[in-house]
Amino acid sequence: MALKLYDSLTRSLRPLQPARADGVFTFYNCGPTVYAPAHIGNFRTFVVNDVIRRLLELEFGADKVKHVRNITDVDDKTIKRAREEGRSLREVTKQWTDKFHADCDALGCLRPHVEPTATGHIREQVDMIDVLMQKGNAYRAADGSVYFKVASFDGYGRLSRVKERELQVGSALAGKAQAADADEKEDATDFALWKSHKPEDGDNAWESPWGRGRPGWHIECSAMSKKHLGDTIDLHTGGVDLLFPHHENEIAQSECCNGATFARHWYHSEHLLVDGKKMSKSLGNLYTLDDLIAKGFAATTVRLALLSGHPRKQQNFTIDSLHAAEKNLLTLRRFRERLARIERAGAPPNSTTFTKVIEHLSNDLNTPAALGEIFSTIGTFSESSAKEGDLRSFDEAMFAFGIDLNRVIDPLAVLGYNPEAPAAVTALAEKRWTAKQAKDWAAADALRAEITAAGWAMLDRKDGYSLEPLKK
Ligand SMILES: [Zn+2]
Repeated sequence: MALKLYDSLTRSLRPLQPARADGVFTFYNCGPTVYAPAHIGNFRTFVVNDVIRRLLELEFGADKVKHVRNITDVDDKTIKRAREEGRSLREVTKQWTDKFHADCDALGCLRPHVEPTATGHIREQVDMIDVLMQKGNAYRAADGSVYFKVASFDGYGRLSRVKERELQVGSALAGKAQAADADEKEDATDFALWKSHKPEDGDNAWESPWGRGRPGWHIECSAMSKKHLGDTIDLHTGGVDLLFPHHENEIAQSECCNGATFARHWYHSEHLLVDGKKMSKSLGNLYTLDDLIAKGFAATTVRLALLSGHPRKQQNFTIDSLHAAEKNLLTLRRFRERLARIERAGAPPNSTTFTKVIEHLSNDLNTPAALGEIFSTIGTFSESSAKEGDLRSFDEAMFAFGIDLNRVIDPLAVLGYNPEAPAAVTALAEKRWTAKQAKDWAAADALRAEITAAGWAMLDRKDGYSLEPLKK
C-alpha cells in the first residue's frame, strides 16, 4: 500500500513519491531551537516525524531516503540565554543540542542523515539573500537589515491562506509603521532575511554585503534544504505552529531564489495539550522528558503515549495516558516473547498478520487505528492460528512505531514485575546479607550504596531479602 499523507498545501491526502531520478526520497523537517530542553509538545512533532521516516524507509528502502533536520543555533532566544548566563552562544547551543540528541535517542528517534546548523551555513544564507536582492525580492533598510518584499511574490499565502485574513490587517498596520518610522521595513508583512548587528547581539555577528549582522530565522531552512537536498524537496514537515509565518516564508524565499517548486508535499502535526490546556510555564504543565522520567516513566512509554492520538488532531496528554501506555507496552513485550517462543526457525516469512498495522500508518499516519489493530490481533491470537513469519510481521509493525521492545524494561519494574538481578548485584547482596548477620553495619551500608549505584534496591525482611530494580 502506497504511503499517503495529508498535504497541507493542496489540502488533500496524496501519495508520496520521490522526484529524483536516482529514486532517493528527500525529507526536510524543521528542527529545534537549542536554548533550553525541548518539551513533550516539541517531542510529539519529532516522534511523529520519526514514524514518517520509518515508513519512508519501509516504502522506498533505507538507503533511498535522505532526511535533513536543522538546528537553530542563533536567534533572539539563544543569544538572550547566552547573555543571561554570561556564556558564549556556542557553549549554550552545544549544551542544548547534546541534550536534544540524548532525549531523541532515549525516545527511539532515528538520527537525521544530515543535521545542519544555522551558524555553519552563514555563507549559504548570504548567497541566497544576495540572489533575492538581485531579483528584486528583497531590499536593504537604512539600518543595514535586509527584508523580503512579500508583495513581490504572488504565491504568498497559498499554504496558510493567510492572504485573505491577516494580510489585510497587515496592510493596515503597514501604513502606520511607515508613518512612524521611514527607516523600518516597507510593509508590515515583510520579514527579515538579515538582521543588522545590535549591541545586545554581542560577538554574534557575521560580515555580509549589507554590513555586520546575522541571518533571520526563516532563511536558514531555505538555505540548508537547498544545500543538502536541492531546490525541490519531496516532503517538508513540522508542527502546525510553524505553518505561518515560518513555512510560508520559506516557500517565498526558496521559490523566488530558485525559480522552482520548494516542497512537493507539506505535512503538519497538531498541538499537544496537557491536562486539556495549552502548555505554558505559568500553568506548570510544560513537561520535559526528564520531568516524566523523574515521575517514574520510561522514555519508551512517553513515545507510545505521544503516538496514541492521531497526529493531525490535537491530543490531550495526561499522566493517566502514560499509565495506559505503560500497560500496553507490557502487553506488547509479553506478546513478542510468546511469538518468539512459538516461531519455528528457518521457515520462509509469509505471514501477513500485522500487515494491516502498516496499512493504517500508511493511510495518513493513523496511529490510533494501527494500535487498535495490534491489540485486537493480540486479543484473538492463538498458538493454533500462528503462522510462519508472524514474529517478523510483528517486528516490522513495531519498527514503524519505533518501539524497541528489548528496551522496555522500566515499565515492567514499575508494574512490580521483577526481572532478575545481574550476578554482580546478587553477589553484592549476598555479601551485604552476611555482613548484616555479623552486625558489621559499616560494611553493610557500604555494600548497600554499591547496590544502589548499580540501579537496584535491596529490601530486607526478617528471614531474607529481595532485590528490585530502582525506578529511573
Ligand atoms: Zn524551518
